[in-house]
Amino acid sequence: MNRAYILLGTNLGDKMDNLQESISLIEKSLIVIISKSSVYETAAWGNTNQDNFYNQVIEVNTELSATDLLKTLLQIETQMGRVRNQKWEARIIDLDILYFNHEIIDTENLKVPHPYLHVRRFTLAPLVQIAPEFLHPVFNKTNTVLLENCSDNSEVKLVVT
Ligand code: AMP
Repeated sequence: MNRAYILLGTNLGDKMDNLQESISLIEKSLIVIISKSSVYETAAWGNTNQDNFYNQVIEVNTELSATDLLKTLLQIETQMGRVRNQKWEARIIDLDILYFNHEIIDTENLKVPHPYLHVRRFTLAPLVQIAPEFLHPVFNKTNTVLLENCSDNSEVKLVVT
């Protein structure tokens, strides 16, 4: 059984609905949700001309391989109507694999731990809430320490506990 952490993000339409719909599609896909963080709101990264994001991190158990988990998540994004045009555009749903066990994966289509995990407060804040002691396999530091060392000072606001 594999344990993974997934970051959900949305800044288009009814954001709370989008998070909930993606969670119910994930639960129908051989993926068992073990815990969920609160929902947090943050200003858009990269393209500040956009609506704020809602973010949430979930912990899951799955028999799927990392590649199949990514495939499943990309299918859910498509199913929810996500169209990929340009980088940093507004999005109905974005599903990123943050960790897959303590594995380090570096292929063209999949990089785990997620390469921006440690530099983004909107990822670390929900992650620390549900997995404070989980060790980042590259830096060998807990999520709590990564958050303490994070130089991203953008505001991460709690929306729903
Ligand atoms: P974006 O939606 O803009 O974040 O980019 C998604 C693309 O990033 C996917 O098509 C994946 O092939 C690639 N990717 C690389 N590493 C990851 C990861 N850890 N989680 C999700 N997507 C990833």
